[in-house]
Amino acid sequence: MRAVVLAEHGEPLELRDVPEPEADPDGVVVETEACGICRSDWHAWQGHGDWVDDRVPTGQVLGHEPVGTVREVGADVETVAVGDRVVVPFSLADGTCPACRAGRQNYCEGATALGFGPEAPGAFAERFHVPAADVNAVPLPDGVSAVAAASMGCRFVTAFEALDATADAGGGDVVAVVGCGGVGLSAVQIASALGAAPVAVDVREAPLELAAETGAAATLNADAVDVPARVRERFGGADVSMDALGSAETFRTAVDSLASGGTHVQVGLTGDDDRGEVDLPVDRLVQADLTVAGSRGMPPRRYDDIFAMVAAGQVDPGALVTDRVALADVPDRLAAMSEFDTVGVEVVTEF
Ligand SMILES: [Zn+2]
Ligand SMILES: [Zn+2]
Repeated sequence: MRAVVLAEHGEPLELRDVPEPEADPDGVVVETEACGICRSDWHAWQGHGDWVDDRVPTGQVLGHEPVGTVREVGADVETVAVGDRVVVPFSLADGTCPACRAGRQNYCEGATALGFGPEAPGAFAERFHVPAADVNAVPLPDGVSAVAAASMGCRFVTAFEALDATADAGGGDVVAVVGCGGVGLSAVQIASALGAAPVAVDVREAPLELAAETGAAATLNADAVDVPARVRERFGGADVSMDALGSAETFRTAVDSLASGGTHVQVGLTGDDDRGEVDLPVDRLVQADLTVAGSRGMPPRRYDDIFAMVAAGQVDPGALVTDRVALADVPDRLAAMSEFDTVGVEVVTEF
């Protein structure tokens, strides 16, 4: 079968023939229907993450935002059957460790990540394997489109968990979202659905326009205005801020926009410039009672909340999809991310 392989860090990705996966006793094999393209794929391709021992090795099949149909089921799998249409969170849990037993599968101690770990080849491929499928393969309700579901393995659930669970954003809160790529735009939509007032921040007009169309109460171009000053003037400061990109600059813009008592949630991962470390204004944290938190993924049990929001029309993950592409286009589309040339979310729908 065909798959997109990380041949060398920073060198063009390769479309190769690779062996078809077979189901482990606790796993399932899924025929890929769609898979989102994400900045995390770009980080992997660039070889980022070695500063937290998280560098993706060469030879890896990338792709971690899939939806598809189960074609083969291991003997020990109980909750998923052949023919089920499933979404798969990028963070694959073992289901057995203390974190999993505490319902924090997104922080599983035995975790691997789909499309990032050598034992978990990804879904930029005609088929992919899901280990511990009773935990990691989540059957979809009827009527969810492929492109909407392809957001639910990563960006959409990450934004939902960060705002709803980690930062407890809700009615009346002002939420400053810095960086309007896929996860940032998802956060804008979700903050609006939670009854908050999202303020979208970017340095590019096109994603800000998309943010305005999908629920932003205000948009700010960080190249044109002093974002923290403007958020304070117009809104009295943000109750919640999110750095959805991951850089010293976006982090600081987000934290400096907070009102007294506010919570920052970090979602973006850093690149070569910052290598996992940014300055923290600790005196202001003390003076203004600020909280800085991190958030990654979402426990699978919370998918029901997302499905309910989609069914009620409160959110539409598919609205952020700006392009549908073929598997062979992935190398070029990831390269476009180096120049921040992509707007919204691109999804592979042709395998
Ligand atoms: Zn992703
Ligand atoms: Zn676990």
